[in-house]
Amino acid sequence: MKDKQIEKLIKAEQARQKKAINLIASENYVSKDVLDALGSELTNKYAEGYPGKRYYGGNSVVDKVENLAAERALELFGLSPEEWHVNTQALSGSPANLAVYVALLEKGDKVMGMSLDQGGHLTHGHKVSATGKFWTQVPYGVSKDSETLDYENLRDIALREMPKMIIAGFTAYPRMIDWKRFRDIADACGAYLMVDMSHIAGLVAGGAYPSPFLYADIVTTTTHKTLRGPRGALIFAKKDARELNKKIDKAVFPGLQGGPHMNQTAAIAVALKEAASPAFKKYARQVIKNAQALAAELKKLGWRIISGGTDSHLILVDVASQGIGGKEASDALEAAGIIVNKNAIPFDARPPVDPSGIRLGTAGETTRGAKEKDMIALARKIDRALRRK
Ligand SMILES: *Cc1c(COP(=O)(O)O)cnc(C)c1O
Repeated sequence: MKDKQIEKLIKAEQARQKKAINLIASENYVSKDVLDALGSELTNKYAEGYPGKRYYGGNSVVDKVENLAAERALELFGLSPEEWHVNTQALSGSPANLAVYVALLEKGDKVMGMSLDQGGHLTHGHKVSATGKFWTQVPYGVSKDSETLDYENLRDIALREMPKMIIAGFTAYPRMIDWKRFRDIADACGAYLMVDMSHIAGLVAGGAYPSPFLYADIVTTTTHKTLRGPRGALIFAKKDARELNKKIDKAVFPGLQGGPHMNQTAAIAVALKEAASPAFKKYARQVIKNAQALAAELKKLGWRIISGGTDSHLILVDVASQGIGGKEASDALEAAGIIVNKNAIPFDARPPVDPSGIRLGTAGETTRGAKEKDMIALARKIDRALRRK
């Protein structure tokens, strides 16, 4: 690289990533092929519009790239192109979610989404997000005793508030989600059911976590978390008389974006092919086994795990129950070479800047080959680093 300043920083980040034990639940490590596609000349091309309907010339090659990405996305999740459409152009998870709001809702409509402090994402209607400024969030959360979803309560809220859309799929919820119960609740109040499977998409792709496609009208996902692709997003829309697919495409372009990032689309296509391999199925199962081993060992060492365990790649630990703040815990772990994020726990009594919990995820370390025994050793290392406080 001629730019020595940036080259030095890239090298420094490569070294940092190599050295750190990474338990950030939303991160992963992509393959060399994904990096090669991202760093390719496809980044030079303007391709406003969709395959076969572009506003610029010279798109014969990138049309094939986008079609291939879409084909692979549908195939990976077992969807037929007659029943489902996928848009591959949204630049990341948040713009993908915003596109769904723009496509299906009128300004001010009610959207039922999990509150941020209970495990929802900003884009599920939080007030600091555009989704909370232009639409009205009907918040829901978990039950206080079990720290899991209470579907009866969700149904009561939905029937009282009659939202236009319900969002299921979260950022900090470790447990299995009952997609069918969400479908029943959405039907009871005539709402669209949008599933945001950003965190768990790789687990769904690998057959290790229930698929939402039997029940949802719309499914959004990032491509860079458990799915192990480049940063990016996919929006799946059910094809029927409501023409959700056409509305989604229009909302993404020209509604919210200009030209798609074709290097990113190519890299997504690469990751989708990788995720369809038998090795990825094994990976997805191992991610969950590792999270369960890590949670069990931490529990044995006296740490309170939110909801008592995990069915996914993600664990929430209540560190405040041992007299340590989330920020203090995260800093202590970083000093010991373990990267996590501080995280609110349900009904948190502490402020968001220094909440009661930390969030751990096993997607990244599993990519690097970690197995259950490594997780047990890691739990002990975490315990030692935190107890030293
Ligand atoms: C990560 C995430 C997003 C947002 O993705 P970005 O690419 O960071 O914008 C949206 N929804 C959920 C549930 C997520 O976990």
